[in-house]
Amino acid sequence: MSEAKSSEAIHQVQPEEAGPDRYNPRRIEEKWAGRWAADPELFRSAPDEENRKKYYVLEMLPYPSGVLHMGHVRNYSIGDALARHMWMRGYSVLHPMGWDSFGLPAENAALKNHVPPREWTLNNIQQMKVQMKRLGFSYDWSKEVTTCLPDYYRWNQWFFLKLYERGLAYRKKSKVNWCPECATVLANEQVVGGCCWRHETITVEQRELEQWFLRITNYAQELLDNLDHMPGWPDKVKTMQRNWIGRSEGALVEFKLGGAAGAAGDKIAVFTTRVDTIFGATSIQLAPEHPLVADFTSVDAELRANVAKLLTEQRSAKEQGDVGNIEKNGVFTGRYAINPFNGEQMPIWVANYILMDYGTGAIMSVPAHDERDYEFAKKYGLDIRIVILPRRTGEPAMAGEQEAPTLPYVGEESLVINSGEFSGLAVDEAQRRMAAYAEQHSFGKATVTFRLKDWGISRQRYWGTPIPMLYCDGCGLVPVPEQELPVILPDKLDVTLAGASPLAKVTDWVITKCPKCGGAARRETDTMDTFVDSSWYFYRYTNPTPDRPFDPELVNYWFPIDQYIGGVEHAILHLIYSRFWTKFMRDLGLVKNDEPAERLFTQGMVVKDGAKMSKSKGNVVSPDDMVARYGADSTRMYTLFAAPPDRDLDWQDAGVEGIHRFLGRVYRFVLRHTGEASGETTRLALSPQARRLQRKLHQTIKRVSDDFAGRWHFNTCIAAIMELLNEMQALEPEMAAGNVPPALVAEAQRKLILLLHPFAPYLAHELWEMLGETSNILRHPWPEFDAALAKEDEVEMAVQVSGKVRARIMVGANATEDSIRELALADAKILELTSGKQVVKVIVVPGKLVNIVLRG
Ligand SMILES: [Zn+2]
Ligand SMILES: [Zn+2]
Repeated sequence: MSEAKSSEAIHQVQPEEAGPDRYNPRRIEEKWAGRWAADPELFRSAPDEENRKKYYVLEMLPYPSGVLHMGHVRNYSIGDALARHMWMRGYSVLHPMGWDSFGLPAENAALKNHVPPREWTLNNIQQMKVQMKRLGFSYDWSKEVTTCLPDYYRWNQWFFLKLYERGLAYRKKSKVNWCPECATVLANEQVVGGCCWRHETITVEQRELEQWFLRITNYAQELLDNLDHMPGWPDKVKTMQRNWIGRSEGALVEFKLGGAAGAAGDKIAVFTTRVDTIFGATSIQLAPEHPLVADFTSVDAELRANVAKLLTEQRSAKEQGDVGNIEKNGVFTGRYAINPFNGEQMPIWVANYILMDYGTGAIMSVPAHDERDYEFAKKYGLDIRIVILPRRTGEPAMAGEQEAPTLPYVGEESLVINSGEFSGLAVDEAQRRMAAYAEQHSFGKATVTFRLKDWGISRQRYWGTPIPMLYCDGCGLVPVPEQELPVILPDKLDVTLAGASPLAKVTDWVITKCPKCGGAARRETDTMDTFVDSSWYFYRYTNPTPDRPFDPELVNYWFPIDQYIGGVEHAILHLIYSRFWTKFMRDLGLVKNDEPAERLFTQGMVVKDGAKMSKSKGNVVSPDDMVARYGADSTRMYTLFAAPPDRDLDWQDAGVEGIHRFLGRVYRFVLRHTGEASGETTRLALSPQARRLQRKLHQTIKRVSDDFAGRWHFNTCIAAIMELLNEMQALEPEMAAGNVPPALVAEAQRKLILLLHPFAPYLAHELWEMLGETSNILRHPWPEFDAALAKEDEVEMAVQVSGKVRARIMVGANATEDSIRELALADAKILELTSGKQVVKVIVVPGKLVNIVLRG
């Protein structure tokens, strides 16, 4: 649709919307947006002097691409409804917003359109802020954080120096994942199926570079353990984190090399989770890049060629992200290692499926009890020796008494056999004793490994936080002194794609003075991974001041975050890094909390026609279009109404229109009843219809309140508000006839407006004012419900057994005959009387009695 056509559609007025009582969201929303903008104190959060309880509600901050998409609108509508609800509940609320504004797209835009990244980014922020304000989100803009500005990133640098002082930041040469399209290094977490997370079709290459790492693995155990005490986080997120941390218990065993030792020593360390199978090990297998392999190949050209071939196979499988399914190839080195448990000579092989960066780069191969080893041994004719048998319950199964299991046999509820003094032990017992034996004899020990690797934060890109380190020919590596922070990112440079950081070409920035010796030094030209920025931004929201990262006292007041809301795609990277950062800051003495967020909610995606919205699929719905056509309230409320917030939402324009019509009905109802005088309603004598409205009102308040407290099924509670309006409209003739007390009508519509406020704040404000209210609805107490009034009316019924009244039961006024029959038969007294007897007939006389006829 062309621009002109789409704006025509926007200004089309729905036929039923014409006339003086038309609901005009544009007029209402622009009026209130103006008032809110003029009152900077409105959403301002501050630690409370009246000792109200605090509530920190946080939505994940966006990358400022320039436009909000519907996924953002959904995320922020959930957070905003919650924030408004908590304000009405009387909490002191912190609800901030900011910009995760370093990163690649700004550089790519610079390459494409020749706009400086800073200018591009700040423009985008301005545009998105306008959109957010138009949508009516209640952010405290005085707390805004923009990560690409020096007042923020200087603290990234400050934290980096603290990490470095404590040995938690270090530099090492390492193989890195390299995306040729991004022209930078990717963390392991950013490689998806062998491809770049941003470029789904670009194969990630391996390169060797000097890189900065953060020692997140120091916290691996704590990151894992705390997950058991985080009931407010979704199980799926905790499971993903547990798998990512990947703790495994096992044993480290050293095998001595037979024959001459080379430069890499005379031992091969192997990590195994199944040390109980070590008597079944019939070979040692090394990764092609294992240091010992270089020793072996230095004297054997043929072996060198074969290993090179294996390495090529491994790399190409790695690039395709498919090492797991590689066709297993290997080569015998001609060398042997000695099994320290039985003194046997084991052939040493090099295999293409053993990775140097996993474990120690060497394994003991136990073909009888491992799928991969079995496949390899079959292919190359290696020995296969059974050392584990299934345990038969109730009898001590010993070697020879049992048929051999199908190989490879990997069962854990088993016994160890053919294993010297360990034969006959249960597998877990054998693991303990064998690890202890290895430790006693100084060739091994029980140990724990983690899949989690240290966090590589070096990026060879321009638009990120400069790493505050210097290289001096005399002094070596020198940290930038704290008082010289921030190291400002230079403004004027050519952003180009190259193998090195574009910063390397800014000579007058790179060359500086060594703070130690006064000689010439070079600056580090790598910048930090942007996940550093988002690891602690929510602390800065509490008080973004120039002289420190945050005020620990304020942080102590607001933290932990009470509710964090964002996409499940951040379950691993962002949410593990920010947990790590919190623990590091706690150990620095800056914060007292162990975890950043008490509760986490991950909302579903917004899809259209069954697919994620994307430009390439042409199924993007623009929030601006929706706001122009139906208003911000309808757009926001639809994102909450169309599906439970944790599920995917399939976008339907007609659904937004439906919400728009509903809000129009609310608007016109209130317009017709602004004159109703309020007053006491709980003790009014009511007609049955009026009583029904009263009951519905209290039921709806209960429902919406319960949902905010627990399930967050805003779709069903919005539906309940719709039903309440239906009930009110249906009663209008009765109201006109004077059969419904005006005070009840006044109460119902006032409370309906209060319930609507978190979902449709603009309209709620307008209606509140139409009723003559001068108070701010945002601070108006949330309506309470009366449990007695919410209860369905009940009547008492007598229950007869064979003509004699034996019990009395309470049933709902509108209960069906079936449910009355069930209730009567389930009554304790009646159960006793009918037990063991045959019920021939149950007669229900509605509103009066139940008669049960027994045989005999
Ligand atoms: Zn890429
Ligand atoms: Zn120096």
